[in-house]
Amino acid sequence: MPEGPEVETVRLELLQLISKKVDSIQLTPLSQKYPKYEGKQPFFNQFSRKTIHSIDRFGKFLVWRFTNVEAVILNHLGMTGRWCLYKDLKKLPTTTKHIKVIIHMKSPPNALFNDIRNFGQFKVFQSFEEVQQYTPIRSLGVDGLTTPFPLNEFLTRLAKKNFKDKPIGEVLLNQRLVAGVGNIYKTESLFHAKINPLKKVKKLSNTEREELGLAIGKILQKALHDKGSTMEFQPYELPSGTTGNAQKWHKVYKREGKPCLECGTPITRMIQKDRSTFYCLQCQK
Ligand SMILES: [Zn+2]
Repeated sequence: MPEGPEVETVRLELLQLISKKVDSIQLTPLSQKYPKYEGKQPFFNQFSRKTIHSIDRFGKFLVWRFTNVEAVILNHLGMTGRWCLYKDLKKLPTTTKHIKVIIHMKSPPNALFNDIRNFGQFKVFQSFEEVQQYTPIRSLGVDGLTTPFPLNEFLTRLAKKNFKDKPIGEVLLNQRLVAGVGNIYKTESLFHAKINPLKKVKKLSNTEREELGLAIGKILQKALHDKGSTMEFQPYELPSGTTGNAQKWHKVYKREGKPCLECGTPITRMIQKDRSTFYCLQCQK
């Protein structure tokens, strides 16, 4: 699933649409096979001939705002949601067979939302205030991509009592702690901070807590710099069609059985709350 760095990379490329006029937003005939899109076209008609005012990121969500209309669009890429920018809609490549939404622009490029596994979201809210009150947005923790990383707020949130008896590897995926962290960067951050994913939050020393916060900030920034991770199971691409490069420096993620790059011990894989996690038994005690 695209995490904060991937979503932010996508957003930065989509910014070329700012101040440009939409012709119409079309929910494709294919999208109408799915209940979450079925019959929703009228809600999107209010954006016809409106100008795109801003595209902001909240955790892994994007919020699209338009001039002269109060309603906003909330969009989540889910597992495989992908924005693609195309000049000519008649020359689409075969990799875009799962288009759910097309933003037809007055002038190219047009923006397509392709979503193979269909976990993406594309919803209209009546106002920006309304989307801010939407629980998944309202409850987001510190944004992991904020610079400098908001360490004090992170430490305060980590000290909340509902986290203390849970393993840190599980807690780090909770968007109420750090928004934008997913399974890949959680795994890499724990390795960087030399913390075992199974360690309970209450057992973490103050130094470990601080090192973890700093590791998250550093890993997410590095991933953003390299435009995110593109892997076989995460066929993430930028709207322009290029891929990310952050996978090249992963130290533990998907490296089960391979020697730890720090100490040579084979990397261990385990399942933690239905997700694969990877760690070094020697470096992360
Ligand atoms: Zn090691």
